[in-house]
Amino acid sequence: ETIIKTYYMGSNSLTVLKGLSLDIFRNEYVALMGPSGSGKSTLMNMIGCLDTPTSGTYILNGHDVSKMTDDDLADVRNKEIGFVFQQFNLLPRLTAAENVALPLVYAGVNRKDRTERAMIALEKVGLSSRSHHKPNEMSGGQIQRVAIARALVNNPSILLADEPTGNLDSKTSVEVMEIFSQIQAAGNTVVLVTHEEDIAAYAKRVVRLRDGVIESDNVKEPTNAHA
Ligand code: ATP
Ligand code: MG
Repeated sequence: ETIIKTYYMGSNSLTVLKGLSLDIFRNEYVALMGPSGSGKSTLMNMIGCLDTPTSGTYILNGHDVSKMTDDDLADVRNKEIGFVFQQFNLLPRLTAAENVALPLVYAGVNRKDRTERAMIALEKVGLSSRSHHKPNEMSGGQIQRVAIARALVNNPSILLADEPTGNLDSKTSVEVMEIFSQIQAAGNTVVLVTHEEDIAAYAKRVVRLRDGVIESDNVKEPTNAHA
């Protein structure tokens, strides 16, 4: 069964995903590529349960997302999915640790546990020493790592990132991609959108969209395979 997504705007409509079928397996490392406007963010939003298909089904961990109530959906988003954006979306007045702890405030976790879990998440991205810094006291790469820590703080199984290096220079991009690789190696599923081949090279599978359909889907051979 294929996914179709149409945006309706008053009397206008635009079909962005024109029938595509994609299975992503636990602990995969997928890069989603394709020209601007091809539907990458639209697809990511569906994978992240921020949006639903116009037709077709999306099964997440065996559950049909289209049949879930809004409460169930919010629950899945909070527990299963971490989202990282190109614009880091940190709150400027809060410290790194407070930004990371924010999803836990919404989840009703007490202050002591919030602080503890925020510190664990900051450790995972190598930023324990910056927990009291505010966003304007950190580099772009550090800020993006704080955003990754925030996405990880609920221990989601899936980490989604929409052009996470889009605002970073190449050296800082490498830092951030190394973090994603570590997270995937630790057992998470990682799906990221990128325009850059260098960035996509970190992933083990590259899916290319064009005009709302999948143009190619390539899983890389392990490089250390015996000849
Ligand atoms: P980019 O590389 O520029 O980020 P993309 O592949 O992520 O592009 P999408 O953001 O998925 O592309 O957008 C695909 C198409 O859907 C575009 O033509 C866009 O204008 C349109 N679109 C995206 N979101 C909406 C929305 N909420 N309402 C209406 N149209 C939308
Ligand atoms: Mg996009």
